[in-house]
Formats: sequence, structure tokens, C-alpha cells
Amino acid sequence: MDKLTKILSFALVLLLLLTVAFPSSLVSAASGTSFTKTTYKTTDSLNLRSSNTTTSKKLTTIPKNTQISSSYRKGNWYKLSYQGKTGYVLGTYLKKVATGTSFAKTTYQTTAALSLRKSATTSSTRLLTIPTGKKISSSYKDGNWYKVTYSNKTGYVSGSYLKKVTASTTSKTTAYTTTERLNLRTAPSASGKLILTIPKTHVVQSLSTSGAWHKVTYNGSTGYVIGTYLKKGTSSPASSSTASVDYSGSKMYVLISSGSTVTLRSGPSSSSSQLARLGRGTPVVVSNSTHKTRGYVAVKTADGRSGYVESMYLTLFQPAPSNRPLIVLDPGHGGYDPGATRVGLTERDIVLAVARQVASLLEGKVDLQLTRYTNDYYPTLTDRSVMANSHATARFVSIHINASNATSASGAENYYYNGSTSIQLANAIQQRLVSYAGMRNRGVDFGNLAVIRGTNAPAVLTELGFLSNSTDRSKLTNAAYQARYAQAIAEGILATL
Ligand SMILES: [Zn+2]
Repeated sequence: MDKLTKILSFALVLLLLLTVAFPSSLVSAASGTSFTKTTYKTTDSLNLRSSNTTTSKKLTTIPKNTQISSSYRKGNWYKLSYQGKTGYVLGTYLKKVATGTSFAKTTYQTTAALSLRKSATTSSTRLLTIPTGKKISSSYKDGNWYKVTYSNKTGYVSGSYLKKVTASTTSKTTAYTTTERLNLRTAPSASGKLILTIPKTHVVQSLSTSGAWHKVTYNGSTGYVIGTYLKKGTSSPASSSTASVDYSGSKMYVLISSGSTVTLRSGPSSSSSQLARLGRGTPVVVSNSTHKTRGYVAVKTADGRSGYVESMYLTLFQPAPSNRPLIVLDPGHGGYDPGATRVGLTERDIVLAVARQVASLLEGKVDLQLTRYTNDYYPTLTDRSVMANSHATARFVSIHINASNATSASGAENYYYNGSTSIQLANAIQQRLVSYAGMRNRGVDFGNLAVIRGTNAPAVLTELGFLSNSTDRSKLTNAAYQARYAQAIAEGILATL
């Protein structure tokens, strides 16, 4: 060989060496994609080629039904090793092999809007998008892809946007009734900071326990109460429902327009002598053991006067800073009338719990009145309407729960009787019940119902769901869902003011 030939031969050998040592990946690495190692099965006999083109050198043929794995691809060409040779095969003849693992069914919440895909890869078809904050459950995962069903479609979502839901927000809660006024604290100890006081004979849902302490949610606040004063079960069946709730010691506020006053009288009658005039927002402490919707209630003022005030001018909720629309929340039924009942649960108790949460969400933003504050008395339908009719600007929302002999009947609905504002209000609440609590949409309809017919103000009657349907019932009795119903109603009201 002459010198030139030597040089050329050396160059050729070098080129060959380089080609062998650094296969095609070096050439066009920029266009490739790395992904989680995935196992495939060949659906046909398949050529393994030196690079990602059909014109490149064929290294070997992989038989049909061979299991191989890859973690890198360029376009539809998958890089893999087979019998000591590394090269590329066309993805058209690869079928993903299930390599996932099954596990105990777990509930997750989406932390972002999340694509539900046909298979466990970002390149597969998107079936739909699951909104943020939705609860989904899974019992199978493949890598970081979780198999879930949402809105009747089954597919895979990335685990990066799933937050495991702890027992305290989903799983079974147990209903208890308070046997005394009970302090809700920040920690399961008497030294925990006091959040608020739960009234006697109020139904709370125990989310979990810690020693003698129960974690419960009340009026939107979650904390701990001592179990000593909790009795298992929701309050009183119909027979004992008229048992008195001790209401004495409760602080209430005078609810009347700025500039007007309410008369404190010496006795429970409009003919009793006048002791004082109490302005809007004046706090009083109720001395009666029960509170009635109408009639006179015995109170004590901050400066020590005792007397009687018409109960419809008192509210448990601090009035807004200046005159605001009055929102009258009417928890349906009460007292001897439990409303819908199923498996020891009553509409009467649930709607009161929801109404009180609505009130705590609206307190300070509007003026608020409840037609009943406890489960132990029944205001007449006229009494309920009158509470709204005594104010110039008011909204009236009667809260109910449905029941049907057909256990399949489910969902929320809203009724109006009169006026475009009533229709608007019905729609505003309806939409939010559907979206916040995932209720089936039974729509908004005209309803010739006494309680909304008798109200001059814009008025709706909302049916949250069916106590007779197991899915609805599990929501209606779940503290987290009760908070969603309350949010739907509160925001629906605010949207139409
Ligand atoms: Zn009802």
C-alpha cells in the first residue's frame, strides 16, 4: 500500500469503528424522546434496524409475540436490544404489555385539570379532561399512570396531579349528637385553642378519633371535641323529636333596619309596657330554653335589663355593617315533622346543618335569618314566609331533601313560584349544586308550593338530593358534601344580589 492508500484505509477503519461504537443515536439524538421503560409484544415478525429508517441496515428479525422493552424512541421508531443487538424497530407492530400493579382501591383528588387518556402514555388519545378538585378512585397503576373511570370513560391519568384523599375527607363518617354545649378545639386536648361552641343536641359527623377526642366539622370549621358529650346516632326519631333543646344562654342580635328599633317589653305581649328600644345589631342573651319563630322571647341585654322581644327580630348571626339584603334561610320541616326519613336519617336534621353552614358563609356579607335554629320545633309555613315579608329587600331560600319509592331517582332540583329574580336565583343555586356536589341535574321548574307562594320576596325551594338514593344519601350525610351544598347555595344567593 502506498502512503495515500494507507491514510485512506486508516480513515475508513476509523469511520467503521466510529460507526460501530457510536450507532445512529449520535447522528440524530436531538429528535428522540426518552420515556419510562415500557414492555411491548411484537404483533408480527419485525426487523431490528441499525437506525430509524427502513433503508438502514437490518441487524436481525424479531419473531412475532416476542416480549421486548424500550425507553427511547424517534418518531415511531423504538430503540431496543434483542439478543445482544441494539437497534430500532417500527412501533406499528408493537403492542404495549400490561405491566401495571393492582392495589387497594384508593380515592384521589385531582390537583390540576387532568387529561384522561386511552392508554398509559401522553401520546395516546385524550378521552376527556377531568377538572381540578374532582375525586376519582383507582386500584391499578402502570408506572405513574393510574387507571380511573370518570364520567363513564375509563382510561389513564398521570399520577403527578393526583393527591391521595385522606380518611378525614372521604371515608365513612359517623353521626353523633351533642348531649351538651361542646367546645370545638384546634387540637385533641383541653389545651387546644377554642374555635367555637357547638350547641346541645346538634348532629355532628365524626371524621376520625384520637383517644377520647373526635375530629368533627361544624359550621365550616374542623376541630376536636371530647367524646364524653357525644351520643352515637342522629338526633331523635320522630317520636322524641319534640324534646326541648336548651337554648338559654345563646347570644342573638337585633335584626332591624338602621335607624329603626325593636321594643323590649316587660311581658310577652304587645300590650306589655315598654322598657327600652333596641337598635340594629344590639346583642342580647336568650333566657328561654327554646326559641320560637314567632311570638316573644325572654332576653337579657348587655346592660342587665331583662324583658321580652319579638323573636322574628332576633338572629343568631351578626348583622352586616350597614343595611344589606335580608336572606331568610328556611330549613324545611322541624319538630314533629321530620320530612323525608330513611335508615334513621331525617331531612329535618340534614337541612338544618346545611342551612347553618350557608349562614356562616354569608355572615357579615348580608343580613341573615333562619326560620328555625334547632330541630325541636316546627314553624308554620306562614310563619316562615312572614320572616321574609317583613323586610323590604329579602330573598327566601327553603332547603329540602327529596325522597322517592323509586330508589333510582336522584339529583338536585330548584323550584320558583313567581318573578324573574326567583328564576335567576333558582338557576344560580341549581348550577352550583350540580357542579360543586356532582348532583344529577333535574333542572329548575315552577312549583306551586305554599312556602314560596306565600313569600313576596324572590323565593326558591331547593331540593338538594334524594335521601332514598344511596349515592345521594352518602353525599347528604357527608360533612364534606354538606359544605359543598352550603357553598352552592351561598354563592348562588350572592350571584343574584
Ligand atoms: Zn322537605
